[in-house]
Amino acid sequence: MATRRGLLFTKVFLSFSFLAGLLCVPHLGYGQGLLEMQKDPGQWVLPGKNYSLTRYSELNQISAANVKNLKVAWTFSTGVLRGHEGAPLVVGDTMYLVTPFPNIVYALDLTKPGAPVKWKYEPKQDPDAIPIACCDVVNRGVAYSDGKIFFNQLDTTTVALEAATGKLVWKVKQGDFKQGQTITMAPLVIRDKVFTGISGGEFGVRGFVTANDVNTGKQIWRAYSTGPDAEVMIGKDFSSPYPSHQGKDLGVSTWKGEEWKKGGGTTWGWYSYDPELNLLYHSTGNPGAWNADQRPGENKWSMTIFARNPDTGEAKWAYQLTPHDAWDYDGVNESVLIDLGSDGKTQKVLVHFDRNGFAYVIDRTTGKVLMAKPFGEVNWAKSIDLETGQPVENPEKRTKQGTNVKDICPGAMGAKDQQPVSYSPRTKLFYVPTNNICMDYEGTQVNYMAGVPYVGAIVNMHAGPGGNRGEFIAWDPATGTKKWGIKEKWAAWSGALSTAGDVVFFGTMDGWFKAVDAHSGKELWKFKVGSGIIAAPMTYLGPDGKQYVAVMSGVGGWSGLVVAGDLATDDPTAALGAVGAFGELGKDTNKGGTLYVFALEGAPKQVAKQ
Ligand code: CA
Repeated sequence: MATRRGLLFTKVFLSFSFLAGLLCVPHLGYGQGLLEMQKDPGQWVLPGKNYSLTRYSELNQISAANVKNLKVAWTFSTGVLRGHEGAPLVVGDTMYLVTPFPNIVYALDLTKPGAPVKWKYEPKQDPDAIPIACCDVVNRGVAYSDGKIFFNQLDTTTVALEAATGKLVWKVKQGDFKQGQTITMAPLVIRDKVFTGISGGEFGVRGFVTANDVNTGKQIWRAYSTGPDAEVMIGKDFSSPYPSHQGKDLGVSTWKGEEWKKGGGTTWGWYSYDPELNLLYHSTGNPGAWNADQRPGENKWSMTIFARNPDTGEAKWAYQLTPHDAWDYDGVNESVLIDLGSDGKTQKVLVHFDRNGFAYVIDRTTGKVLMAKPFGEVNWAKSIDLETGQPVENPEKRTKQGTNVKDICPGAMGAKDQQPVSYSPRTKLFYVPTNNICMDYEGTQVNYMAGVPYVGAIVNMHAGPGGNRGEFIAWDPATGTKKWGIKEKWAAWSGALSTAGDVVFFGTMDGWFKAVDAHSGKELWKFKVGSGIIAAPMTYLGPDGKQYVAVMSGVGGWSGLVVAGDLATDDPTAALGAVGAFGELGKDTNKGGTLYVFALEGAPKQVAKQ
């Protein structure tokens, strides 16, 4: 059984070191500390649990057999009523979380009953940043490293705080909301750098990824998603198995004129990292205007997965998922790093469930697509050609200026959006919260103006075949097939958590927090929280040695904006078409902002590790 022994040892050791004076303690180095800490099942020190983003926990006190006895241990109101995405972190005996705008950061003391607030950091932000967020003022979490907490404000400020006190260490501006730029993502720390992207795909923002020094905030490098190779940081280390990805300055030549400057490839998703290959994986969103007729060409490097050297920023490979996007299928969904195969023959792959509806298995060393299968309702393309890496499109579902193309699947929200998947090495299955949303889409001429929406499309989304707007599925990456599915009335917009107890947790937009059997999908337990769930569950060991499961409730995001933003429901094309599919959501849930923490009743039960 996993315990907090490692942590206790460290504490005892540190106390001893302190008492013994300046005893020479070998410094692990910034990255190594985090690399070791993420292996401790008692803590949850990275947004996705680990650099691979598996969101899998080795904890097994809560199991498929006893999860039915799960009870609320304590709750915490965040004081904010907008969409709560992301998950808290637990580092040592403290839980850290950040709210939607105004992005209040809380440290909660887990050693005391009810986990009172240890410190609170409330930034001062200009409320004029609020309407610049296309799809609610969400924030997907904090990052931790070496005694510091990092987070991004909506107004594009990256902030470092002392984890012990909440005192400001440094802050830097990554952009300007008056130019349409915002940030909603959780940062990622690798060694001495903190990595952050940018949002604003609906405001003509040109995407980039920035590496800042963890100690000073100084910018180390910034790589753009579009433009000349020097600015995209494509150099001599770059290679691609696909001829369409080879050539100089494709970030300019695959666009008409200077369209590449007016947006393309914002970088607001979850990032992953392979320490052995020393590669950072991040991806990019939609190209400029949604009206694809305004920007002929493949529009590189929008809709692209990048593998970069985190030290230098140089790209090793890139793969464009949706060339010349005409549907807003942002490629930003997370790439989960797993070793696929058995009998000693495994391959280092990344698995990526894209907005465009295909689940990709990609060789993460080379960028070659090994498999791509639809994991939801898909009719815009028939398949992905593994020779060329290009989608085999259905011309009837390509959107056009001046024509309302009907019933395109998936809709702009994709078969999956920000809601992160989980992978269990025990079942070798992915647990994938999906959307079943289709759309009607008409391109319209639009002119670029800094700081105002640059969309150029009238979109009306609706439920896909069957009428259920979502399904929580188990997916076998070895065969590219769905193992089981749980249909939901609303989009399954929460993240997933799987554990060594063979339990999988997820939440629904109408406010049910559910535990299901990892093998069969059988519902084992559920609890109705105060507001719809669009956040990701996490689990940790408390100071009492007990396993806890935590999730934030607070509906919102693009799908829940109708409730979180008090939208009128008479125009189905409002909120970029979200009202068409989610206009009735307010009948099933209400605004909220509460953290729920669950545990089994009674003393912790030690269960032998299987
Ligand atoms: Ca977008």
